[in-house]
Amino acid sequence: MLQDKVALVTGAAMGIGAGIADLFADSGATVYLLDLDGPKAEERAAAIRARGGKAGAFACDVSKRETVAAAVDGIARRHGRIDILINNAGIYPRRVFMEMTEQEWDQMQDINLKSIFHTCQLVLPHMIPQRSGKIVNISSVTFFMGPQKLAHYVAAKGGVIGFTRVLSREMGEHNIHVNCITPGAIKTEGEIVHANPADIEDIMQRQCLHRRLFPLDIAQVCLFLSTPMSDGMTGQNLNVDGGLIMY
Ligand code: NAP
Repeated sequence: MLQDKVALVTGAAMGIGAGIADLFADSGATVYLLDLDGPKAEERAAAIRARGGKAGAFACDVSKRETVAAAVDGIARRHGRIDILINNAGIYPRRVFMEMTEQEWDQMQDINLKSIFHTCQLVLPHMIPQRSGKIVNISSVTFFMGPQKLAHYVAAKGGVIGFTRVLSREMGEHNIHVNCITPGAIKTEGEIVHANPADIEDIMQRQCLHRRLFPLDIAQVCLFLSTPMSDGMTGQNLNVDGGLIMY
């Protein structure tokens, strides 16, 4: 499905990003895993190569433009093209709003929102001359729910949805598709650290599908948004939460 495509996935050393990288590699793409933890991303890329896939890794802090630029340049020099960008890297520490520091607010915006300003501005110059490209931004179902202690996170993830809409309008004339996914509660390493098990149980009961969702559930929708199967769609959000909310 992704033969000859070059894909870049941020935050891919573990969790949802790693699931996306695995599925894309299994679907024939050459995948680059960008992550704060370079050795862990390389370990993941090596596992893909060991089973016959094509993958590489870059240590990269998505909130630091120069590290994103170094990775994008390296990939473009090697392949002469970039077809798919998955903006997945994100953090989600919880904090009551009145106790939130300015530094915590800024860090959240830098990693979860401003990062996609950097990645898109650096990758699009490669997609525009190709007259093709697929960008998928990972937001969150929390944007529709507004849970407590996540004001900084939900503000950033709402920004991701708004950004997706504007960028899709500006990129339509270049045949570049920009879409978004809002995952629900997905079982990942990060979620295990940040979520309360009782809350997860409650969410599972409220989902139409009473089961845990895994990175593969998000990766499959990401694959759809990265192939010609979704060529008629841009500027949209797909909510993947097991039927938790409906909008
Ligand atoms: P995760 O398990 O914590 O994995 C996130 C990965 O991103 C980690 O490898 C992490 O590296 C990396 N990362 C963090 N900050 C980075 C930075 N500045 N630059 C580059 N890489 C960075 O998270 P996840 O649960 O898979 O979540 C992935 C995305 O889905 C996030 O955007 C999150 O907001 C969104 N999401 C998740 C859920 C869920 O239930 N899991 C629900 C809705 C939305 P380190 O470990 O080295 O920090």
